[in-house]
Amino acid sequence: LPELPEVETVVRSLKPKIQNKIIKSVNVYWTKTLSTHTANSLSKTIQNKIISSISRRGKYIILQIGNSFLVIHLRMTGKLIYQNSSETQSSHLRLKINFKDNSELHFTDIRKFGRIEFHNNLNFLNEKLGIEPFSNQLTAGYLYQKLCKRNGPIKSILLNQSIIAGIGNIYADEILWKIRVHPQKPANQLDIQKLTKLISATQIILQKAINSMGTTIINFSFDKESYGNYGSQLKVFNKNGENCIRCSDIIIKTKCAGRGTYYCPTCQTM
Ligand SMILES: [Zn+2]
Repeated sequence: LPELPEVETVVRSLKPKIQNKIIKSVNVYWTKTLSTHTANSLSKTIQNKIISSISRRGKYIILQIGNSFLVIHLRMTGKLIYQNSSETQSSHLRLKINFKDNSELHFTDIRKFGRIEFHNNLNFLNEKLGIEPFSNQLTAGYLYQKLCKRNGPIKSILLNQSIIAGIGNIYADEILWKIRVHPQKPANQLDIQKLTKLISATQIILQKAINSMGTTIINFSFDKESYGNYGSQLKVFNKNGENCIRCSDIIIKTKCAGRGTYYCPTCQTM
């Protein structure tokens, strides 16, 4: 699944291509992809308007169009591809924005779990999502207050988008390995000092992953055929049976918060 670094990579790569483009029309090929409107009503609403900005919130991509917002969640296999109208289109094309200059933004999605919504404001996102990892508001005090009454595993807290937005399965494992915390450790057992380390590890890892244009494990790509390079810097995710680079014990795969979870049994004790 694309997580914050992958989504940020998509946003940065699309920005110079689609910002300030004038919309001609919209085609929808899989009606469930567009969950708030019919193809016709969206097309009428946004035609002749300009995409004034493209940004990210958590794992969502936001296109500002006039005073409204097209909000895109890639989920498992969604991709945004910018191309010309003369180029061949994917058989997995689910929605297409046509621009006045005959270029197009395609949303392709093999598994069809991706969703696109059109809203007049971003309240629904802000109600659903917690603090951004790079925000100054993400402090040990904030986390302590959120976690002190929760005895569920710290990994599920990291995956909980309403506390910190943008972290998924890969980066949660990497963050916990870096700060030497067992993924199953009850969240309310992390003290302020550990939470401070957790925040700084989160920021360092996500920033490095953004710099490497994300991680491609199975199916993340951006543009037409560009892949993320952070996979070579992973320390624990997907490494079961390999030696921990810090202590050389064997990395274990287990299940935590319903997800495949990798950790080092020596570095990461309860
Ligand atoms: Zn280790």
